[in-house]
Amino acid sequence: MSSELQLIHSEILECTKCELHKSRAKAVPGEGPHDARIMFVGEGPGQNEDEQGRPFVGAAGKFLTELLESIGLKRSDVFISNIVKCRPPNNRAPRKSEIDTCNPYLQSQIRLINPRILCALGTPAINTLIGDEYSASKFHGKPLTKGEVTMLPMYHPAAALYDASLKETLLHDFQVLKQLLEKEETHSPSTPKSAERSGAKQTLEKWV
Ligand code: URA
Repeated sequence: MSSELQLIHSEILECTKCELHKSRAKAVPGEGPHDARIMFVGEGPGQNEDEQGRPFVGAAGKFLTELLESIGLKRSDVFISNIVKCRPPNNRAPRKSEIDTCNPYLQSQIRLINPRILCALGTPAINTLIGDEYSASKFHGKPLTKGEVTMLPMYHPAAALYDASLKETLLHDFQVLKQLLEKEETHSPSTPKSAERSGAKQTLEKWV
């Protein structure tokens, strides 16, 4: 991990900026390669994540791993994070004030990782990354491109655990992700990512 990203993660582990730190066991900064081409952003840690300090390690995480495998990717190929880094008590939805307080950490992660494709999992992540007028039900699987950064709204994998019909929807939307990745690789097959896209960070700032 890059030293700058490491620094942000150390800050997150000790963060006391909102109430969520009082009830957490472990903060969950996120994990994956510091130069990942794809970044996933979920809602927030649940019980398993809180215990282990790692994102998406419970039932929703197992399904996320399956979804990645369905398009030939491994978890270790992508960066996975959340809009809040500490578990809301009893898995309640994170409050707007908590999301806003935590957002600078997410923005720093996005700027440092500088992904080509940013997948927002579930409406809270979609609202945080793209805007309040967007929702998973209306915009899932529809890529939104600004400059060289593509945002892909999706349902949250946990939604498919309650509504089995969403499993197919998510599998389909991962095919959209696969196509985006192939398109992106065709455009820049061998250039090191860090050497590209001088304007991309500027573009991304408009999104976060
Ligand atoms: N759900 C999320 O949104 N994030 C996690 O890390 C785990 C489950």
